[in-house]
Amino acid sequence: MSAYETELNLPRNLYLEVTNRCNLKCKACILYRGSWEPARDLTFEELVRITDQLPELGQIALHGIGEPLLNEELPAMIRHLKNRDVYVMFNSNGILIDEKRQYELITAGLDELRISLDAASPQGYSVMRNSDKFDQIVGNLHSFVEHSKRLHVSHPKLSLWYLGTRANIAELPEFIRLAAAIGIKDVYLQRLVYFQNDAGYGVAIPEKTLMDSDGKTREYLNQSQDLAKQFGIQFNASGLNTPLESVQANPGNRSSWEQCFRPNTLMYITANGNVLPCCISPFSTSDYSSINLGNVFESSLKEIWFGSKYRDFRKTHQTDSPPKCCRGCGVLWSL
Ligand code: SF4
Ligand code: SF4
Repeated sequence: MSAYETELNLPRNLYLEVTNRCNLKCKACILYRGSWEPARDLTFEELVRITDQLPELGQIALHGIGEPLLNEELPAMIRHLKNRDVYVMFNSNGILIDEKRQYELITAGLDELRISLDAASPQGYSVMRNSDKFDQIVGNLHSFVEHSKRLHVSHPKLSLWYLGTRANIAELPEFIRLAAAIGIKDVYLQRLVYFQNDAGYGVAIPEKTLMDSDGKTREYLNQSQDLAKQFGIQFNASGLNTPLESVQANPGNRSSWEQCFRPNTLMYITANGNVLPCCISPFSTSDYSSINLGNVFESSLKEIWFGSKYRDFRKTHQTDSPPKCCRGCGVLWSL
């Protein structure tokens, strides 16, 4: 066993997909192409059984592919995890967050809620998310901010997420204005990930990436940065970079993926119990079996985490010829 492996502890950070069902079919999502797995919700008992195996669990994301609010047991799950003093967050498309849900999430103790919107107008929303729900979601967000003020609570921390592509980058400055108008102080630019062969779909294709794109993209990003500063908004990129850095490719650095710590620090468990190395992997390779490292309904987390499939994945990840899913990380999209 190498020094690298002897230092390995069970993960303190978990992604747990509480459902893989969704009320949208966004054009950059694998659900637009067709789901990897059968539709399923995780039960409360399953969540307890899985998370009980991680006594040092510090943070959990109750999302993966799918809309977490479709799982009716979500508030009970959050309450259970908060009783264990775990930091709890999830991503949502915001369609279902009416006042009743807002109250349930606030009283359950949710720490952070990330809303993926990708647009600043109904037209832009339709281009990216294939839906006419933009105004409803913006209405829900306005009411959530008001509701939190009325209850004098500062949780959950709300943020808005924008998947940056050539199809929608022109709306980004307007998106910052929208966040300011709602009263949301954190905005994130999300990277576009796509299959590294010719099996693309929707907007998840190389032609739509912002990576190394023209000066116009930089102009929109600079404008957005200036507006964010003016409104007192934190404008970040997902992952390790600033928004501007996140669209600058470094093709000379062929082993950027080696700087990713996810295989050693977190686990992503799907609603069917399959363990994946991270939430990027189902979007970055069309070879799903290559990212399935075990199943929590068949083996313990410890057996999977320290097992040969995971160990081989980590070992290959630290080479010039990493697992298929990792080859675009830090090269075709930011880490
Ligand atoms: S991106 Fe999110 S909201 Fe859109 S279809 Fe996929 S899981 Fe649903
Ligand atoms: S796919 Fe990318 S993010 Fe996931 S483990 Fe590999 S290098 Fe890390």
